[in-house]
Amino acid sequence: MTLEAENHSLTVGSVVDMAGVTRGKVVPAARTTNFQDTGMGASPSWNVFCVDDALAFTPKFSVEGDLRLRIDKRELRPLGHGVLWAPANFHHQNGTVAEVCTRSALARVELRLADAGMSALIGHEIEFVLVGAVPPERWSAYGLGVVLEQHAFITSLLAAAELAGLPVEQFHAEYGHNQFEISLAPRRPVEAADNLVLARILISSVAREHGLSASFSPLPTAGESGNGAHMHMSLASGDVPLFSGGDGPHGLTSRGASAIAGIVGNLGDLMAVLAGSVLSAERLKPGMWSGAYQCWGLENREAAVRFCAGAPGSASSSNVEVKCVDPTANPYLSTAVILGAALEGIEGDARLPPEVTINPALLTDAERDHAGVRILSARIEEQLTALAASPVATRVLGAHIIEALSSVRRREHETYGAADIATVAEKLRFAWTS
Ligand code: GLU
Ligand code: MG
Repeated sequence: MTLEAENHSLTVGSVVDMAGVTRGKVVPAARTTNFQDTGMGASPSWNVFCVDDALAFTPKFSVEGDLRLRIDKRELRPLGHGVLWAPANFHHQNGTVAEVCTRSALARVELRLADAGMSALIGHEIEFVLVGAVPPERWSAYGLGVVLEQHAFITSLLAAAELAGLPVEQFHAEYGHNQFEISLAPRRPVEAADNLVLARILISSVAREHGLSASFSPLPTAGESGNGAHMHMSLASGDVPLFSGGDGPHGLTSRGASAIAGIVGNLGDLMAVLAGSVLSAERLKPGMWSGAYQCWGLENREAAVRFCAGAPGSASSSNVEVKCVDPTANPYLSTAVILGAALEGIEGDARLPPEVTINPALLTDAERDHAGVRILSARIEEQLTALAASPVATRVLGAHIIEALSSVRRREHETYGAADIATVAEKLRFAWTS
């Protein structure tokens, strides 16, 4: 029996927009196959929705035309309460994939990697604040008591994850007040991004069921810890890992080293994708453990790219964690540009820059210059200029996505850039909640 025939009443299909907000359409479960084969209509303007639902029209994305939202039925998952969910792609009415489809952009990079004989695994970390959970005087960072106190929420969430086939690896209380974190098991890039979207849906809805509200904002409350969207990545050529077993630093192979060089070297051009919201700048600062420095280092939590060595006996689990990403990044796009940068680093034999082994804030200016370490820009005009000039972004994202993303990010900054940050943080606190 198919999933949709088993007592399910609704099927939800979701896409993530350029502001990182998940949007979707719903059909009766009996129409699930239609949702895949013909799709449901959606105006091209869906791609220029801003975080506050304003429309940042561009020449390519305005009031005319129509697109179809088509779910990927292979990924259909039960959410409980008679609801099914699947990720969706944007197609044209004639059935071809729309250039602006972010999930398809990631699928194309995955294919480029496969054509070059390689594959990637991506493991997402999800930080969120559970508003209303524990009073401030009883909170403790990484505290066990605060996790046990939330056992009802956690148990429901893990049950929902199990039902939906979401591979949760672990759960802990994070540093900020009422901040928690879940990590997901590594999966192929598109599947991992789908899982991240699903995880945010489940966290949001289970929180509601428990009288709580989940915030995925990079700055849920001004002056407090931000939420990151750290992404772990490992690469392999056939079965051979590229981040271990080689004769480079920490066992890096030459392709592994070039992949890291490609990521570190391109990050500055990709920040409009990775952390380009009006709240991102408040999180992306030294001292926030958000990886604000454009450099890499073994287990260095202030480096944008932290090299995580595999545990003894499992060297093949060595991976890199890209820390500067925040939850306002569309996960299909953030994965696509990071993977694209790694792949182009490999193709161009990029040279690994010097490793930064200490907190980059403690380096002298001369040492920072020698290692080419800069603070990643959170200034939108700089981010957008760099994105427009980036060969990696042009190849990976294409003109349609860059036009839509730039327009959305720019408008968000025009609307809120000069406003009091505490007020903006409060207004947008639940903008990324599903
Ligand atoms: N909350 C930090 C961030 O915004 C990350 C803390 C950590 O997990 O190291 O990225
Ligand atoms: Mg964390």
